[in-house]
Amino acid sequence: MLAFQDRRGSVEVAFTDRFGGVSTGPYAELSLKVPAHVAARTAEHTRLTAEVAANLDLVAAAVARDAFDGLRGIVVMHQVHGATVVVDPGVGEPECDGVVADEPGWLLAARAADCVPVMVADPVRGLVAAAHAGRQGLVAGVVPNAVAALRERGATELVAWIGPHACGRCYEVPAAMRASVAEVVPAAFSETSWGTPAVDLGAGVRAQLVEAGAEVVEFTPCTIEDERFYSFRREGEESGRHAGLVWVRP
Ligand SMILES: [Zn+2]
Repeated sequence: MLAFQDRRGSVEVAFTDRFGGVSTGPYAELSLKVPAHVAARTAEHTRLTAEVAANLDLVAAAVARDAFDGLRGIVVMHQVHGATVVVDPGVGEPECDGVVADEPGWLLAARAADCVPVMVADPVRGLVAAAHAGRQGLVAGVVPNAVAALRERGATELVAWIGPHACGRCYEVPAAMRASVAEVVPAAFSETSWGTPAVDLGAGVRAQLVEAGAEVVEFTPCTIEDERFYSFRREGEESGRHAGLVWVRP
């Protein structure tokens, strides 16, 4: 369930894998998002929605443990590959790719299957952010935007965690796409292990975080190679989603 856990002060971070939940079939076992291709108001959508809700509860319980009573809610985003960052999550599922909480108890989640889940925190001031950075989000700057939102709230000492994603030796793209990404984020320029153009999402995110002054912690198995994780490239549209999670423990 939790493939990685870390703690700095009252800030806790986790990255999930695909094990230990109730999902079945291609989504087995711990998918945390209903895939976009499943039409709303169908029996399959209803079933997957219930499974995802159950899985999110299991993950929240695993992260919160004895502080479960202090859990105000698990915050998931309606991710759109953009650069919008929402501060102060309430109920609902904001359309954004970054979310910031400035009080304890909100468990922030960024869901992915090849894209990069990124958690950022100022453990001293109790500020946390979760971001989802794929190729488009990397170029659009969702990670720098999340850092800026934290700094606007008074963050100074930042730690960031980069989670599982498609690695720069696997994430093949057309040459023109690599060029356009590298024009904005030079560190993302890469080549596959078989010698074709690629984008290194993790290297790009890392460069943005270092530029923004954050200490970077990496837990970065390749989702395409490591079958503990979901991968859109490997599994197609019937791929589930794992997540990165961060909160300030109440
Ligand atoms: Zn790889």
